[in-house]
Amino acid sequence: MILQLDKNISDSAKASLIGDLGIYTKSVNEVQTQKGFYLVAIEKKDVDIRNIGQLAGVHDVHVVSDSYQLVSKKWKVSPSKIHMKDGSVISQNDFSLMAGPCSIESEEQVDAVIDHLVANKVKVMRGGVYKPRSSPYSFRGLGMEGLRMWYEKAKAAGIMIITEVMQVSQVEEMYDFIDIYQVGARNTQNFNLLDALGQVDKPVMIKRGVSGTIEELLHSAEYVFSGGNEDLILCERGIRTFETMTRNTLDINAIPVLKDKTHLPVIIDPSHGIGIRKFVEPVALAGIMAGADGVIYELHPDPEKAMSDGQQSLYFEESTAMIKKMRKAYELRKELN
Ligand code: PEP
Ligand code: MN
Repeated sequence: MILQLDKNISDSAKASLIGDLGIYTKSVNEVQTQKGFYLVAIEKKDVDIRNIGQLAGVHDVHVVSDSYQLVSKKWKVSPSKIHMKDGSVISQNDFSLMAGPCSIESEEQVDAVIDHLVANKVKVMRGGVYKPRSSPYSFRGLGMEGLRMWYEKAKAAGIMIITEVMQVSQVEEMYDFIDIYQVGARNTQNFNLLDALGQVDKPVMIKRGVSGTIEELLHSAEYVFSGGNEDLILCERGIRTFETMTRNTLDINAIPVLKDKTHLPVIIDPSHGIGIRKFVEPVALAGIMAGADGVIYELHPDPEKAMSDGQQSLYFEESTAMIKKMRKAYELRKELN
């Protein structure tokens, strides 16, 4: 059960409300986000919520049968909106593109990618500066120095930055230089990291774990929301299955399911989802038709020389062609709906 509290409720009114709720609930958790005050409660059996709705300080009350509550569509039917600094919105009613290299590698690489994105009106650039690599001997990123270099160039071009945050200490370190934090598939259940991201006022994109269920992804988002940050994006990036012909299996099923369950925007990552350059486009288009609210994908000025994930990174010409098709697919989906 979610109780939305009056915006200007005083601390003492809140404390007495929590006291009064005792007869109706088994537990009550206070949640204060940048956008509102909530109480997330587990109600006792057969409680008549009209009694709760009448308590002083309660603005609205919703019974949510899902174990994830704040991210559930059951209480918030209208899609949540993330307002970006350039005026664009990321939501279930919009379509967002984010593209860039797997790793930030050099000034020349960043310049070339930014020119490509500007030419194609893509506003958000992806790139890792801290890379979670399966082998400790692989390239692990340029770190903060790389991020600062990237930030200066992106800012000058009006491009926003999404990058992976791997640990709690990096949340603050990166804050001034980024627009969206990415939680990688290996960190979807790093609950300390999710708690820390609940305390910042910048959007967070959470990727689905390599072997994570849809419900686990929703619970990860619940961590960040209940920690105070409502600006969340979910990302289906492929799961590990018995299939060996592809790197992962992008779970198309997850897209309509997530959009049915949550008010948060759902984007897909076809690059990690299939892991093979020539198949990124068909998977991206399929995901859009299935309801994806955006696509994040990898590209590189010279994929053969990329320091990570070159095999799934698009050449610029391929990216340009795919962007056109993705925008058309989104328009077609709206027409069909
Ligand atoms: C990435 O985006 O480069 C990345 C490492 O993604 P994931 O966490 O999905 O593996
Ligand atoms: Mn990658």
